[in-house]
Amino acid sequence: AVQPQVPYLTGLNLEQRRAVETLEGPLLVLAGAGTGKTRVLTTRIAHLIATGRAFPSQILAVTFTNKAAREMKERITALVGAVAEGMPWLGTFHAIGTKILRRHAELVGLKSDFAILDTDDQIRLLKQIIRAENLDDKRWPARQLAHLIDSWKNRALTPDKVSAGEAQGFANGRGAALYKLYQERLKVLNAVDFGDLLVETIRLFRENPDVLARYQDRFRYILVDEYQDTNVAQYLWLRLLAQGRQNLCCVGDDDQSIYGWRGAEVDNILRFEHDFPGAAVVRLERNYRSTAHILAAASHLIAHNEDRLGKTLHTDGAAGEPVAITGAWDSEEEARQIGEVIETLQAQAHPLSQIAVLVRISAQMREIEDRFVQLGLPYRVIGGPRFYERLEIRDALAYFRCVVSQADDLAFERIFNTPKRGLGDATLQILHAYARHAGIPLMQAARALIETEELKPKQRSTLRDLLAAFDRWSRQLETVPHTELAEIVLDESGYTTMWQNDRSPEAGGRLDNLKELIRTLEEFPDLQAFLEHVSLVMDASEGDSHERVSLMTLHAAKGLEFDTVFLPGWEEGLFPNQRALDEQGRAGLEEERRLAYVGLTRARKSARIMFASNRRIHGLWNATAPSRFIDELPEAHVEVKEAPAAFSYGNYGRSRFDQGSGAFGSTYNTPGWTRARQNSGPGFGAPTGAPPGGRRGGGHGHTIEGEIVARAAASSA
Ligand code: ATP
Ligand code: MG
Repeated sequence: AVQPQVPYLTGLNLEQRRAVETLEGPLLVLAGAGTGKTRVLTTRIAHLIATGRAFPSQILAVTFTNKAAREMKERITALVGAVAEGMPWLGTFHAIGTKILRRHAELVGLKSDFAILDTDDQIRLLKQIIRAENLDDKRWPARQLAHLIDSWKNRALTPDKVSAGEAQGFANGRGAALYKLYQERLKVLNAVDFGDLLVETIRLFRENPDVLARYQDRFRYILVDEYQDTNVAQYLWLRLLAQGRQNLCCVGDDDQSIYGWRGAEVDNILRFEHDFPGAAVVRLERNYRSTAHILAAASHLIAHNEDRLGKTLHTDGAAGEPVAITGAWDSEEEARQIGEVIETLQAQAHPLSQIAVLVRISAQMREIEDRFVQLGLPYRVIGGPRFYERLEIRDALAYFRCVVSQADDLAFERIFNTPKRGLGDATLQILHAYARHAGIPLMQAARALIETEELKPKQRSTLRDLLAAFDRWSRQLETVPHTELAEIVLDESGYTTMWQNDRSPEAGGRLDNLKELIRTLEEFPDLQAFLEHVSLVMDASEGDSHERVSLMTLHAAKGLEFDTVFLPGWEEGLFPNQRALDEQGRAGLEEERRLAYVGLTRARKSARIMFASNRRIHGLWNATAPSRFIDELPEAHVEVKEAPAAFSYGNYGRSRFDQGSGAFGSTYNTPGWTRARQNSGPGFGAPTGAPPGGRRGGGHGHTIEGEIVARAAASSA
């Protein structure tokens, strides 16, 4: 219908073009990874604007992450140039919900400057409510209620809609009543939680048809990426907005639905065709991203799922290299392998920005980060701060810096009143003024000031103690091994205790990180060498945002692509994750397999699947067996590179995993694996540095930590 010479349309294949040019009426693009769904969406927006069918402000596009929204904005600008009429409404469900809700806050009993609670606040508030109701919050933990309320909100259930049966599970049927109290408290506080951003907008629309009508009229075209991961509330929200003009275009891939545990419903795809009768459906089958080997491996793997709509994928691209499989004795060696391969690639001028390491749970990251830091490889963590950027690590480093140099003002300022010791801003101001005046560092100024009447006696004595402590630690630099000294500093300063007394949910993780920090110190001769190294790594990766390896969870990798992808930790119990299997059985296994499919299909040219026979998670060693997913890969498209001596891809027969009763239930004939399996139990058989006994039992098999991308982005460390 449109001039074929339009530059942004050339280069699209026929089906993609149909998807771009079918502008009126509902449209569903259902297609596998790398077939250009996101590209179609972006081009559609460009096309709508370029042909004058809609002003940018009349277009609403929903992406899964804020990052994806930014990228889409850039691509649209590149396609049609800067547009005078502003930009489309482009963002996550939550971002757009917030925008709408702020405009009409008073209609749902809020003020427009309402606060958005993060998970911590939410749990704290629920705990108050549980206690106020004279319930035992040990028996009925706030966290569990928070989870329950989230799951209701994911289904757009307001307190009055929660069925008696569903409320049964918490505090003998009082779940719904507590939910109601919670909502009332939120109103009083002029606050909402994440779920409310949608649920309250839905309520706004339902109770105010005129407001809804205005938005229905305004948004002539609505587009949604990653549609397979929408939950019921998001679906209802979309349906309300799209019902007017019916110009709703959703793109998705049922094989990439990986947020079922957060309430996403693949059924929304089926519902779409039901709710929007006559919807056009476009299927894209040509993959433009990956080499033939990678695509074949991924397609073969996902074919093991029963619960799928099914689709074919092909590529006209090169065969490329087979998917590499490498085994390691333990997770440290795995991290070393990753570092080695990346260094080789770097030597061949492979851009680091085109390399990603995708892990199943974020606890896997630390060993890899440590390795990167040791090698001086710049990297970034997507969906969370890098190890050395975390709050507790920065604090600890600041202490170490002051021990090494009493002239480090930035470091001193950071820990001067952390943990809280009654040295407030006023005291700091006085120190600053004096230091500036005398041209000396803060600590030296403090030393002078405690001899005067400038400061109150209480602050004087606190400062005196602090300075004395630093003097002591500085002297110990010569006499005490540096790892021990690091622990002494964190203990004696009260820093460790501060986190031990902290009741917030992240406190445990922060203590783990501090332990990890001490462990990393072991690899350096002294504190100075370590600090120098850290500052170099931080520096190297700050300025140049392009040249960095990306490290993230598989969940956070959705929609992205990289030339080279590392997939470590393909072990039973970790991946597929034991908790997913325990809680959801076959459905859980299939979601894990979809996650594996997402991981593999991020790679353009090279994918490397890795496993270790022993893994340390949260400081605990576990003996592990290779993931069943490895066995499900087609032999013709994989190549075993490095592996423990006894491992050979071809000869650990397929049947072994098929018979296996799930994680840790398979048997291994080869001597290497038998040994690895017998060595189970924390600390046993681990090569070096295994902690004697562990903080927690059970090991890694019990956490699912898919990044909650939107939340992670909203709350910073
Ligand atoms: P995912 O399911 O992983 O989100 P997708 O279906 O959204 O994938 P895109 O990210 O849009 O796929 O496209 C994958 C890659 O293929 C991108 O690099 C894109 O630029 C490229 N691509 C898509 N269509 C074409 C085409 N017609 N010609 C050349 N390259 C294309
Ligand atoms: Mg995409």
